[in-house]
Amino acid sequence: MIRVNEEQCTLKGTRKDTTMRTLIYNANVVTGDGSTILENRSLILEDNIIDSIYTVPYPMYDFADYAIDARGGFVIPGLINRHTHCITMGPYATDYALPALPEARVRQNLKQHLLEGETTLISQDGFGTNEELEKARSFTPQLLQTYTINTPKHFEKAKTFSCGGLTDTHYATTAEERIKQGAIGIGEVGAFGIPTPCCGKEPDISYTDFMYIPLMVRVETGKPVSWEDARKFREAATTAEGKKSKLPQLMEQFGVLDARSKLEALVENSSENAWLNLEAGEEATQYAKKLNVPIDFHNAPQTREQILTYSSQLNSLFHAAHSNLFYSPSECVEVAKAVKKAGGWIDMSTGDFFRAGQVTPNHILSLALLQEGLADMISTDTSGGYWDSILKVLEYFIEQRVVTLPKAIALATKNVTDAIPNIAPNRGEIKEGKIADLVVVDPKSISKVNAVIIGGKIVVENGVTTY
Ligand SMILES: [Zn+2]
Ligand SMILES: [Zn+2]
Repeated sequence: MIRVNEEQCTLKGTRKDTTMRTLIYNANVVTGDGSTILENRSLILEDNIIDSIYTVPYPMYDFADYAIDARGGFVIPGLINRHTHCITMGPYATDYALPALPEARVRQNLKQHLLEGETTLISQDGFGTNEELEKARSFTPQLLQTYTINTPKHFEKAKTFSCGGLTDTHYATTAEERIKQGAIGIGEVGAFGIPTPCCGKEPDISYTDFMYIPLMVRVETGKPVSWEDARKFREAATTAEGKKSKLPQLMEQFGVLDARSKLEALVENSSENAWLNLEAGEEATQYAKKLNVPIDFHNAPQTREQILTYSSQLNSLFHAAHSNLFYSPSECVEVAKAVKKAGGWIDMSTGDFFRAGQVTPNHILSLALLQEGLADMISTDTSGGYWDSILKVLEYFIEQRVVTLPKAIALATKNVTDAIPNIAPNRGEIKEGKIADLVVVDPKSISKVNAVIIGGKIVVENGVTTY
């Protein structure tokens, strides 16, 4: 008879060591590679690492410290949201540099992203400092990354035409410094979508209707106005006659007359700002090349020409952001094909179809990109604060049968780590040895997030944060 002593009998993971062992059982694993689902599995996490994937759903007498019942649902890699805003304490956006949101709202945004299964996020508010990023990092267990836009032309533009979000510290920090401090790309570039004018013409300044004018009027008077109203103001402010009579009349009618002189100044400066914006896009492209980091370029009909030119110069460093907005379906597909042909990457925005419906009235463009096999990644952007969750939108795409579950999940996991190598080291896929950033979703509805694990720690359980 062979006897085993107590020492030999010690199983890995028993209380004789100090490792934290977590078991996730009764799970179907979507690995993130774009094709694999492992059915009826259980996973063992040792501290922050995925240690094993067992081929049984209920391992008998496991020694885990804690067990999570996946209830026959899917375990997917933690989602990586490669393009969003308003998640750090830095100025919002790059083209109008609004002051940061209040801390409580930034915390709330981060929490919402977490409850939607996002474990890594990139802030595309590229003017933020390292301190502002670090402050936001202290609010959340998520991995927060940032891009930078601290280039000379963007600063020049901000000085003539920003909404006051930049301080001396912002102006004093260069893109090179931000990359050294850990920023992983250049972006967001071209956020106002100003078209390159042809044949010596002046740039089209209608971009001011969408955000600049409503924001300025709001700041000056406390009253929101729609972009259609803003257009009326702008058109009235472009002629001497209009400025004299129509503009004051209109502004009076909307109760925003106090913003009149600021509005006139804004319209006067718009052309200069538009030129600077175009030059800033060109310069940012050179920075991406020089620093060998990806650039995130606002893709819309207005920036179409810039997208085509710069993607052919930057190849795989060129990332076309939210490529599923504003175009006609044929144009959207044509631009995406050209970017892909040049070696660039196509990102889609989740938009706001399921909430406000202001930015995304339908998903025709997303469906076209998916059907043509042109979509590489998906991210939320912000849609003015009303973004749809990545899983909600992926669930819809799967229902529409334009993408399979594994392909859909790869759009916000492994594809992103392939495109942006430094975004989430050793994450983005469920494999033994990878960092345990995981999301457990409902078997019937993938947009229902039951648990989120970051670095082996449970941060959401039964749909509620636990950190
Ligand atoms: Zn944009
Ligand atoms: Zn954006």
